[in-house]
Amino acid sequence: MDTHAYRVLLYYKYVPIEDPVTFAQEHLEACKEIGLKGRILVSNEGMNGTCSGTIEQTDAYMDMLKADVRFADMVYKIDETEGHAFKKMHVRPKQEIVHLGLEEDINPNELTGKYLSPKEFFEQMQAEDTIVIDARNDYEFDLGHFRGAIRPDIRNFRDLPEWMLENKEMFEGKKVLTYCTGGIRCEKFSGWLVREGFEDVAQLHGGIATYGKDPEVRGQLWDGQMYVFDERIAVPINQVEHVVVGKDHFTGEPCERYVNCANPDCNDKILCSEENEHKYLRSCSHECRVDPRNRYVVEHNLSEEEVEARLSAIKETV
Ligand SMILES: [Zn+2]
Repeated sequence: MDTHAYRVLLYYKYVPIEDPVTFAQEHLEACKEIGLKGRILVSNEGMNGTCSGTIEQTDAYMDMLKADVRFADMVYKIDETEGHAFKKMHVRPKQEIVHLGLEEDINPNELTGKYLSPKEFFEQMQAEDTIVIDARNDYEFDLGHFRGAIRPDIRNFRDLPEWMLENKEMFEGKKVLTYCTGGIRCEKFSGWLVREGFEDVAQLHGGIATYGKDPEVRGQLWDGQMYVFDERIAVPINQVEHVVVGKDHFTGEPCERYVNCANPDCNDKILCSEENEHKYLRSCSHECRVDPRNRYVVEHNLSEEEVEARLSAIKETV
């Protein structure tokens, strides 16, 4: 069997959708009919999706959207994979297709930063007086990012505008380049930067996903891997060299393996080796390790004695 018989599609479009609730219901039915799996968000401002299927299924889906004038010119980032990258199919009506929560919203069709091709971005990020800012969540940055990019001291993308305003002097007289996974977050964020008076604002068109596929740039100056919101979690970008930037949560050793903290109330993403996952009960902290609902303990059917033994083994290494 062909090991690349499946594809993952990543796509978005800012375009008015009049009745997102009805649209979402109908779209979900159509996707299920085709046999796709994935997650699609729709709102009055457009559609943001990622889904997986066989070559035939993904072709059928793209044909379907092509027949709709609103999405006829949709751009798809296509990855080949060995199977579905999602377990289910969801289409959800939302307030925004990317949660930024601005008091006064931005329509990227009216206001957005200058679009840079991968080649242009590659060149401009190396120019003096340029600041590259990562417009994603902290755990995405920690797995991989452009060399020299700024990691805003925030948890979530939606906190970025406030952080930018607090650190505005850092950007005075500088060119500001922004990037994100597929380009959708930068559309709004760079528009907001322009509105807030940041001087020279540009965004990586098509995001990191497009950058990694560009035949000329070949992902250069990207370190680590790109975090993706499907079962693959991490995908390679730099085709020329692979520099690991992720660090094991417990030992600081190079690591690109994400797990979720076993305390259901925490669920934080932590980078850790398989060995440390078992040693530390897949939990980010002592508090999470001893939480009565700890999923690792349940999954592995650990007795109280076994948990105690592991906890004291951790104490010995510290
Ligand atoms: Zn935790």
